[in-house]
Amino acid sequence: MFDTLSDRLSSVLANLRGKGRLSDTDIDSTCREIRIALLEADVALPVVRTFIAGIKERAKGAEVSGALNPAQQVVKIVNEELIGILGGETRRLNLAKTPPTVIMLAGLQGAGKTTLAGKLSGWLKKQGHTPMLVACDLQRPNAVTQLQVVGERVSVPVFAPEPGNGVGDPVAVAKAAIEEAKRAQHDVVVVDTAGRLGIDEELMRQAADIRDAVRPDEVLFVVDAMIGQDAVTTAEAFRDGVGFTGVVLTKLDGDARGGAALSVREVTGQPILFASNGEKLEDFDVFHPDRMASRILGMGDLLTLIEQAEQHFDQEKAQQTAAKLGTGELTLEDFLEQMLAVRKMGPIANLIGMLPGAGQMKDQLANFDEKRLDRLQAIIRGMTPAERADPKIINGSRRLRIANGSGVAVSEVNDLVTKFFDARKMMKQMAGRFGL
Ligand code: GDP
Repeated sequence: MFDTLSDRLSSVLANLRGKGRLSDTDIDSTCREIRIALLEADVALPVVRTFIAGIKERAKGAEVSGALNPAQQVVKIVNEELIGILGGETRRLNLAKTPPTVIMLAGLQGAGKTTLAGKLSGWLKKQGHTPMLVACDLQRPNAVTQLQVVGERVSVPVFAPEPGNGVGDPVAVAKAAIEEAKRAQHDVVVVDTAGRLGIDEELMRQAADIRDAVRPDEVLFVVDAMIGQDAVTTAEAFRDGVGFTGVVLTKLDGDARGGAALSVREVTGQPILFASNGEKLEDFDVFHPDRMASRILGMGDLLTLIEQAEQHFDQEKAQQTAAKLGTGELTLEDFLEQMLAVRKMGPIANLIGMLPGAGQMKDQLANFDEKRLDRLQAIIRGMTPAERADPKIINGSRRLRIANGSGVAVSEVNDLVTKFFDARKMMKQMAGRFGL
């Protein structure tokens, strides 16, 4: 859904890479490009304005962080502002203190309400609830049957009017449903309501009547992310006509620009709770603003990684080590220190998994052997300080002693020493090439 926006933003931010300092002009032109990317993706203008203003102010205020270079700081700011626009913290469903919790779905016809009713109730069931679906869409000829079909697929009972009894009166059906839920001890009731092709008075009145009759704990406004700027106008109409406590974005699997969907939270002030991203009933997720932001910025979970680095790295030490790379003075002591710092951040496979594009490396990651690192650590620890500082003195008899002391074969010690020299040489050459 957000592929184009994601590509654009990633390339704008990639342009900043390698810059030591960012001037105000750099920040202005970056903001201009971000603005164009957002507008082209259909993000509503007032939302774009707020977003850009936030980035500009913070980027120019240049929050100083020891571990991040200026370009990384801008990425961090853009990410945080994007999370803010998307709602900040993940918002959980409000459950009633005294069951049943009543969740009412509202939205235009075709938005994906009935499909969502099935997805949501299936999800609730997996969470240990005992949901019941209620068919209050009595307008569309097939709506009740459609709800019964999805209900059956997720094994959730559907409360629907008996033919000839209460047909045409969704309010009566809704009321009866709540009574039935209490009787049969369903702890959550999901009420599907009728939509129209466009916004109209009658539709709003009916939804408001159902709302008054069942007094829902949550009214979820269901909106098709593919309808572009109309998403915002529709959301405003539903907010004023019925009122809602949360938003569900549907059809996020589509290839439309999707920016309007990103505007709904900011424009209506109501959080996005769920995302529906396919026709299958399992294509459904809790909406996490932070994960969505990462996805849009095409950065994997790089920010978690950066945060962990900020926590665990001694910035001064890292800089000293970096300086030594260029002169070929790196010692095994430095190597051990950096390795320990990296390992404090968590298992290596998890760290690599947070890198963008790490998805394709999954199989290799699964086979990553942390024990090899344990052995490397043991070998270096088995060396004297003089040996670590100047590995060249590690001759045959020293190797044997180190191997015996750290419980590994001499060949492993040889291997480590050879690889260390190779790596040091390579880093020196690279440092020369990049002018470090
Ligand atoms: P309602 O009128 O609001 O109840 O909408 P429906 O649940 O009947 O959905 C309308 C159409 O959109 C159906 O063909 C659904 O299969 C489809 N649909 C619903 N949610 C999604 C989704 O997340 N992705 C895709 N691709 N299609 C969806």
